[in-house]
Amino acid sequence: MSEELKDQATLILIKPDGLKKSLTGNILTRLSETKLEIVAAKMVRVSKELAEEHYKHLKDKPFFGELIKFIRGELHDRKKVMALVYWGDGAIKKCRELAGATNPEEAEATSIRGSYGRITTGGVYENVIHVSSDPREAEREIKLWFTPEEIIVDLYPTKEATEKEIKKKTWA
Ligand code: UDP
Ligand code: MG
Repeated sequence: MSEELKDQATLILIKPDGLKKSLTGNILTRLSETKLEIVAAKMVRVSKELAEEHYKHLKDKPFFGELIKFIRGELHDRKKVMALVYWGDGAIKKCRELAGATNPEEAEATSIRGSYGRITTGGVYENVIHVSSDPREAEREIKLWFTPEEIIVDLYPTKEATEKEIKKKTWA
């Protein structure tokens, strides 16, 4: 196995349509077939900035505006996504295979997107799950969605920084 495939990481998002359709359990069960390890997980309220940065490769597409609304939960009355990092050999290929093709109508019927996705009248593919497309994208996305402390293994090099006078919420 090539170095790049070993201990690979991928970002997984359960998108707002997946949450609204109560598919979290089904999707996580399907992904467990990969025998990969979940090394980070959280619920996220997606800001406009995070959404636009995440999908920046699509910013010139006609559906970009709708896509940003979609991932922010504005089409589903569910203003959150579940973000996870899956880790292990060949993680990206394994998860993308289970997810199926981007277009849910073209995705294999038994794949996650083929089973649960749909295309809206506005032309957005509501495909219930995001999986990183390659190791570079995975690194960019994982660093965008998670801090090093939220991930239980050392995926990428870190540095120590002392932050002074940063206002943080703590338990009262
Ligand atoms: N998308 C869409 N219409 C398209 C292409 C993409 O609505 O013609 C949406 C869809 O939700 C997709 C996301 O934009 O998952 C990101 O697109 P990308 O090409 O990166 O596909 P993915 O990596 O998610 O399969
Ligand atoms: Mg992609």
